[in-house]
Amino acid sequence: MPAYIIDPPAVNAAPVKGSDKLFPVRRVYCIGRNYAAHAIEMGHDPNREPPFFFQKNPDNMDFTGKFPYPTKTKDVHHEIELVVALSKGGTNIAIDKALDHVWGYAVGLDMTRRDLQGIAKDMGRPWEIGKAFERSAPMSAFVPASQIGHPSSGKVELKVNGKVKQTGDMNQMIWKVPEMISYLSEYFELKAGDIIMTGTPSGVAAVVAGDTMEATIEGVGELKVSVV
Ligand code: MN
Repeated sequence: MPAYIIDPPAVNAAPVKGSDKLFPVRRVYCIGRNYAAHAIEMGHDPNREPPFFFQKNPDNMDFTGKFPYPTKTKDVHHEIELVVALSKGGTNIAIDKALDHVWGYAVGLDMTRRDLQGIAKDMGRPWEIGKAFERSAPMSAFVPASQIGHPSSGKVELKVNGKVKQTGDMNQMIWKVPEMISYLSEYFELKAGDIIMTGTPSGVAAVVAGDTMEATIEGVGELKVSVV
């Protein structure tokens, strides 16, 4: 086995609730506009058109409970999302077999430099600059489906400084978790360690340094993050 020219990058991994083991993450897929009310607030048609995805980087995940206000923006938004973690991959996964690939779940925030994303949209450019920046994916510890099952309904709520900003229910997802896995697997080879951020309900808004975000997904967990 040849030696590496430089030290290989660390494996990015999530803590697992109630365990000293880690869940290693390979790719972070994110779906856009997966709750009708959020599609409308962003100025789009809420009807069911084919889903679309972008990616964050595994090293954008953060488990410290702190979100440093990022550079080059004046408009950073919170997006609370259910995170799905796969323990098995594949291609052309059937919808009715998709949940067999799911190891567990977490509460995540798809933090977004909305101003930079808006410019990218206007210019027909990719979204990475708005979405895939350092520490842009705060997450809770991952929880195995063996403990909580596969949630398909339940309240999704985000408070900022104690005031409710985003509220919805997982049953409002336009594309359900098994459908997202199946669809993605037609375009990509999914693998163990891939995770999916499943979209956000309406109420996305800006945060500033000093704010505290409290994200709760019924039956999954909670996540508290301070903007610093
Ligand atoms: Mn999102």
